[in-house]
Amino acid sequence: MKTMLLIRNAQVYSPQNLGKKDVLMAAGAVLAIEDYISSHHLVEDSEVIDAKGAYMVPGFVDSLVHITGGGGEGGFHTRTPEMNLTDATTSGITTLVGALGTDATTRTLTNLIAKARALTTEGISCYCHTGSYQVPVSTITRSVRDDIILIPEFIGVGEVAIADHRSSNPSVEELARIAAEARVGGMLSGKKGIVSIHVGDSTDYLNLLDEIVSSTDIPMSQFYPTHINRNLGLLNAGKHWALDGGYIDLTTSTTEMDLARGEPACSVALAGLLEDNVPVSQITFSSDGHASLPVFDEQGELAGLKVGKEASLYTEVQKAILEQDIPLETAIQVITQSPAHVLGLKNKGSLSLNHDADCVLLNPDTLNIETVIAKGQVMVKDGAVLVKGTFQ
Ligand code: ZN
Repeated sequence: MKTMLLIRNAQVYSPQNLGKKDVLMAAGAVLAIEDYISSHHLVEDSEVIDAKGAYMVPGFVDSLVHITGGGGEGGFHTRTPEMNLTDATTSGITTLVGALGTDATTRTLTNLIAKARALTTEGISCYCHTGSYQVPVSTITRSVRDDIILIPEFIGVGEVAIADHRSSNPSVEELARIAAEARVGGMLSGKKGIVSIHVGDSTDYLNLLDEIVSSTDIPMSQFYPTHINRNLGLLNAGKHWALDGGYIDLTTSTTEMDLARGEPACSVALAGLLEDNVPVSQITFSSDGHASLPVFDEQGELAGLKVGKEASLYTEVQKAILEQDIPLETAIQVITQSPAHVLGLKNKGSLSLNHDADCVLLNPDTLNIETVIAKGQVMVKDGAVLVKGTFQ
């Protein structure tokens, strides 16, 4: 890794459009963003990249990835594999949040932390959540609060499942207690203590969260419901939740079968939400990467399994810009500034002085990802992978 990295002639979106700038990075942070930065500022072991007018956006923040694998609902052979470093970096993802899912028996929180530390050592920034779908919540210290306070990687709890046949069907009191524990744990450790909520297929939608918010002092902003574009009914419930001030997360990885069954694609759902005046600050996308995606045949029999792809995260933003005519500086927020804010990651999600030097260079014509930089290290350059995972 070079000591200093100077990127010249980039059209910088912080995500706000700052115009053509030079950006200087050192020691993993953004040191300067100026119209022109002289090479005189560089120490000997430095690299200069001419962006040639490429769009420079913040590194992407993926708020839900099954980094140690997920799935398993079709038996042991359907457990999905662990992700690799380049699954993230080639997709422009420089920050991600790992979580368990349905399975907290053969998947463990200790393994999750180890994997998060491995990915962080390999060059990106990886956090995770304690708990899983189930209530009572599985933890390491036997307390959600203590896990968040004592374990650096833990920034919240979840995905806790609601409105799903795989959920433990937590009561208002049970889920409120988990949220209060996460909130206090977050307050005492300078974290957000967010409660990631997996919302399933049931028509209960977000009713449980509405009940908690109306019957307790826990603010809406403590909850982060995901899979909101699962169907039109849930998307509509999510719209009202967001208009009332809550956060909603849309899942980008899907199958042709689910789209044919009426699941709105994230790009289309985003256009509809913005049209209905939902602030983009309330909306995020996540990939649900490495989750299992079952495919059923015409008779409803399981026909195969696919694995959720991290690459879908940016593909849906690209489609939102190119096909739904949403401005780049708006669309890009759902995978940069908005999730960083929801998760309480203060140095992530925007290109600002002293923030982490995470960025992506996009081809200005195709908007394809060309170069990816994480903590000041060039991970992907002009489409070629420069840094691979340890066993890749
Ligand atoms: Zn989920």
